[in-house]
Amino acid sequence: MTELLFRDDGYLRSCEARVTSVDNRGIRLDRTVFYPNGGGQPGDIGALRLASGELIAIVDTVKGDGADDVVHVPAPGSPALTPGTTVTAEIDWERRHRLMRMHTCLHLLCAVVPGAVTGGQVSDGRGRLDFDVPGSALDKDAITAGINKLIAEAHDATPRWISDDEMAAHPELVRTMTVKPPVGAGRVRLMEIAGVDLQPCGGTHVKNTAEIGPVTITKIENKGRQNRRVNIAFAE
Ligand SMILES: [Zn+2]
Repeated sequence: MTELLFRDDGYLRSCEARVTSVDNRGIRLDRTVFYPNGGGQPGDIGALRLASGELIAIVDTVKGDGADDVVHVPAPGSPALTPGTTVTAEIDWERRHRLMRMHTCLHLLCAVVPGAVTGGQVSDGRGRLDFDVPGSALDKDAITAGINKLIAEAHDATPRWISDDEMAAHPELVRTMTVKPPVGAGRVRLMEIAGVDLQPCGGTHVKNTAEIGPVTITKIENKGRQNRRVNIAFAE
């Protein structure tokens, strides 16, 4: 089990931590600011800084075996760490912040385009969502204008928790049909963009939509009879 500091504060850039185990998959810490790849958001990169000042580059972060198990993947050839070692875990903040902005932006895309979401991916500087919509009546310029309006309106984005029972009573909260909310832990994390979007999400987000900055729909692709892939990127 790793204490997931990014879950309560996505703006934490570093933390002190202790190495709990090391195996051929990577390094586990007792606590971390590194987000592991999941829910369409890539894992963080960064470094573990030793007391000596030496840096172990982290090239990816992935989920381990349990729900809160995070594996930090070191660059090939990195020196081996010993369990018990104290490190400072530092993410590549510039990249993470771009991922947070784009991730939050995909929630807005979800609110602007009607139809169930069948998949999605956040990348550095761009993102995409697949929608199950009959016909091909999605207008690139109208969607771009709709999202930029929500960004400019500066809506707060805040996480909150509900119980598994509340989640079961409100299936309409689930917008992404292919990603089941992580029930079983007793509670589910909801992401609320005030007045715009509310859905279960475990990723990292900016605090206010204004922080996203201008975006543009770059392409709408047909991926099957009903499936439309909407691609989005930062405008600057
Ligand atoms: Zn999210």
